[in-house]
Amino acid sequence: MRRTRRAGRWLALLALPLALAFSAPGLAVPPDDAVPPTRSSSGEQNGVGLMRIVVADKSGIDRLNELGVDLAEYVKPVDNGIEVHAILSPEESQALRDQGFDVQDAISDQSDYAENVAERSATMRALAAVAASTDTLTVLRSEWFSSLDNQLFLNIEVKSSAGTDSTTVLTASWDSGPGTEIGSGGTATMSRFTDAGQYMYHRFSNPVAIDAAPSKATITSSKGGSVTVDVAKWLGSPRKVTGEHPYVSDFVDHYMDPTEITARFTGLAAEFPKLTQLIDMPYQTNGYRRQAQAQFGTASASIVYVSSKAYGSAGGNDLTVSLVNPGAANAPLTVGVAGTNVTVSLATNGAGTITTTAAQVVAAVNGNADAAKLLTASTYRGNAGAGVVAAAGVTRLTDNLKAPASVSRDPFQMKVLRIGKHRDGSKVGVFLYCQEHAREWVTPLVCVESAERLLRNYAKDPNTRKIVDDLDIFILPVVNPDGAHYSMYDYNMQRRNMTNYCPASSADPANRNAWGVDINRNFSVGSVFDGYNGASATSCTSDTYAGPSELSEPEARNEVWLVDTFPNIKLSMNTHSYGGYFMWPPGAYKTAGREVLPRVDQGTEAYFWTSSDYILSRVQEYRGTAIWPGRTGPVTDVLYSAAGNSADEHWYNRGIIGWDFEVGADIYNPTTKRFTAVGFQPPFAEGHEEAMEFANGNIAILEVARAYATDKIQPTSTVQIVKQEPGATTFTFSTSEPANVYYTTDGSRPTYDSPKLALAGMREGNQTITVNGSTTVNWFSIDIAGNVESNYKPDGNGKNYNKQKITVQ
Ligand SMILES: [Zn+2]
Repeated sequence: MRRTRRAGRWLALLALPLALAFSAPGLAVPPDDAVPPTRSSSGEQNGVGLMRIVVADKSGIDRLNELGVDLAEYVKPVDNGIEVHAILSPEESQALRDQGFDVQDAISDQSDYAENVAERSATMRALAAVAASTDTLTVLRSEWFSSLDNQLFLNIEVKSSAGTDSTTVLTASWDSGPGTEIGSGGTATMSRFTDAGQYMYHRFSNPVAIDAAPSKATITSSKGGSVTVDVAKWLGSPRKVTGEHPYVSDFVDHYMDPTEITARFTGLAAEFPKLTQLIDMPYQTNGYRRQAQAQFGTASASIVYVSSKAYGSAGGNDLTVSLVNPGAANAPLTVGVAGTNVTVSLATNGAGTITTTAAQVVAAVNGNADAAKLLTASTYRGNAGAGVVAAAGVTRLTDNLKAPASVSRDPFQMKVLRIGKHRDGSKVGVFLYCQEHAREWVTPLVCVESAERLLRNYAKDPNTRKIVDDLDIFILPVVNPDGAHYSMYDYNMQRRNMTNYCPASSADPANRNAWGVDINRNFSVGSVFDGYNGASATSCTSDTYAGPSELSEPEARNEVWLVDTFPNIKLSMNTHSYGGYFMWPPGAYKTAGREVLPRVDQGTEAYFWTSSDYILSRVQEYRGTAIWPGRTGPVTDVLYSAAGNSADEHWYNRGIIGWDFEVGADIYNPTTKRFTAVGFQPPFAEGHEEAMEFANGNIAILEVARAYATDKIQPTSTVQIVKQEPGATTFTFSTSEPANVYYTTDGSRPTYDSPKLALAGMREGNQTITVNGSTTVNWFSIDIAGNVESNYKPDGNGKNYNKQKITVQ
């Protein structure tokens, strides 16, 4: 077939990408007099594909061009010629074959195209459906609470099915008490909460201050969804302990350093020998010490700094270095050592001018055997050191540590105070530990106050007596003593320990506040070494530096040693500051896809929320502080990912409940109507209050632990029908106390291998189960303490499980 130029133009026109025809159809409309030879002008792409053609040489390409074949911008030499690609209909392909062209297979054809179009339109339809249809709103939490000076606040969290669309706006309105109109209490727009690029839910950035306790709230979405819910009271449930007793408290009157705190614990152990045991932890810390250093010069290229081999306290502080101008022409560079004094005599040229560079000083000092025994010289931050140095008089090296001599410069002996009437491993153990992060000065006071209250109230307070008699309590007041000393005496914002893993290129004196390992990132579960988010494995000066490897630090190994040595430990509390949080695992995720460590199961999550209410109500009792619902929950949900933290270590490796406090809730100013953060080291008057209220929290944790330890009550459970419609019935289970439910729907006996009732989603209620035909459900429940409903033996042969027939209309 010979084509005219016009026909060729046709071929090319019709081969325009369909998208163009979609977006500007007019462009694809042919002139009236033109008749397309092989394709309809309807815009359909009957059989058109991107075809492979092999021509013998360039002249073959030219011929195709002359024919008006629509060639792609693609030319590839192949064995028997040149491969080109053309957009052709089957008829056009055949016509070219008839002319002797080697038209081969399709690179992509209509079916690919059809698939792409189908996929695209499906996606477009889904997006349009999301945009057009009413979204479904799932209320995660709706609570009011009172905090501080009886100011009332509202907290609402709602998940929209259209929440991934950033234009979805949710608005909450609430009443001002039973029987009042929705909206009479107020209205507020919610903010869209995303994490690691993923939509979580909508919430208020801060709890909203309100004048009256609401009973109902309505949340409406810009996408049309609407839901009305009851607003419950958060916290403030009445204390279960009854009876008058002379309870004594308030045992801290100033911020304390680790040396003072250890002395206090040693004294308590001596005073209460029948109730306590002071345990030396096996790994001593590196100590409140570091190398002595001095730095010469100011311009980067001519700076030299020296670090003592010995710690400052072990002789490093006695060293001196001088850079001497010999005062003569053509002097050589020499290094002399006399006792602890190193003298570098600098080289000069014929005019008597100093010529020695920083790099030359470094090489000369490090190359002198006597000097190298005392110290190491380095250029500045990896600089080549080509700058000429200046002379400098006798300069003493110093570790620059300012703590009084009463603070030892030796490795620190960490001590844990074990409190309990029966310390033989027969009682449930609870591990309370504080100050993993050095700058969190309030936290050790929480541990000290907790220990004092337990021991000094034991004789007269029946509640304390029950706790101490029935539990085995381990209190570690300072996990990071070296860093804590440093924070108190040298650099108050120190978070990490003092161990320096930095290479010479970042170990100069100006970086001394930036060394150290973040103890709460040094553990072995969900660590940065495992690929989790929220720590640095590579930057020794990062504030979340995880150390050279998991459990590299003695402080972290001591915690692990304790929980391994005392396997009766079942609960732990890791106290940090600040912000006012109560949290539990999971505490880390991988950034890609926000892959979270396994979530706790439905029964455990329910237990945590029930415990939260009790523990946080005790915190609130002291001065009214409410820990917000939005700051209660798994670490990953309410704070951020913290790779390699200790609570995850305890939970995932040993099944120990790993709770975290952040003491220091934001303070609300009723005049400005703003919340203010308290910081790491508030004035002691505020720090004292935080220590008192969270010591309340620690005692409450012990009460919760004792309830767990002595729980012999079996849970009961029932089937709850959620929805019945023709052909489908949806149900879930409810339990008398937090408990897990194992169930079958195939008539078989339920065991621990049977399906386990899960949560519907993050911060959501129980999952629901839908059956499409009448079904017998068999199930049992088991509480956190291991009590099984009706004393059923899931591993046995008994039939005393629950049974219920679910009917379907
Ligand atoms: Zn912390």
